[in-house]
Amino acid sequence: MWHVMDARVELRRSARARRWRLEVPWGGPARLTAPKWMSGAEIDRVLAEMRPWVEEQRRKQVPRLGLELLSVCRSEACTGARELVSAVAEEEAERLGVSYRRIRIGDQRTLWGSCSPSGTLSFNWRLVLAPLEVLDYVVVHELCHLRVPNHSDRFWTFVEQCRPHWRDQREWLREFGPELLGFRPAD
Ligand SMILES: [Zn+2]
Repeated sequence: MWHVMDARVELRRSARARRWRLEVPWGGPARLTAPKWMSGAEIDRVLAEMRPWVEEQRRKQVPRLGLELLSVCRSEACTGARELVSAVAEEEAERLGVSYRRIRIGDQRTLWGSCSPSGTLSFNWRLVLAPLEVLDYVVVHELCHLRVPNHSDRFWTFVEQCRPHWRDQREWLREFGPELLGFRPAD
């Protein structure tokens, strides 16, 4: 942990990073990913310079989803997520003419869904706390990757055919996703 004045910043050294990157996740300390060769003095300088920006991000992090009122236990929520995700995936895979091997529900910190080349679809259990159309979009998005494994124009055209209003759901994830990803149930 790095300290800049009174603010705690988690420092991650990366062999691959070409330049530094600063993130301010909900409910966690700010995180600086720094190239291996970045000196302590340079880190201090960047953090001092970026401090107003970090504070601005924090000010914007006003809870709007009412998650603090929920009494959710993680295992229950995972079961709920698995049921919903599986129901959508089964129905849509058939419609899209794709097949997957299995569904994994995980506790990813940054991701909503992913699709492995072997056909395993992984989803964040927090999707169960999002509007159903958002969960539906994330599942359909990953199923579309079974047909087109990248984010090319062809991929988005395919997504658009399946879910003409996909942009609304992506917008919801941009707007509320960081708050939802920061949610940690008590258990
Ligand atoms: Zn994707």
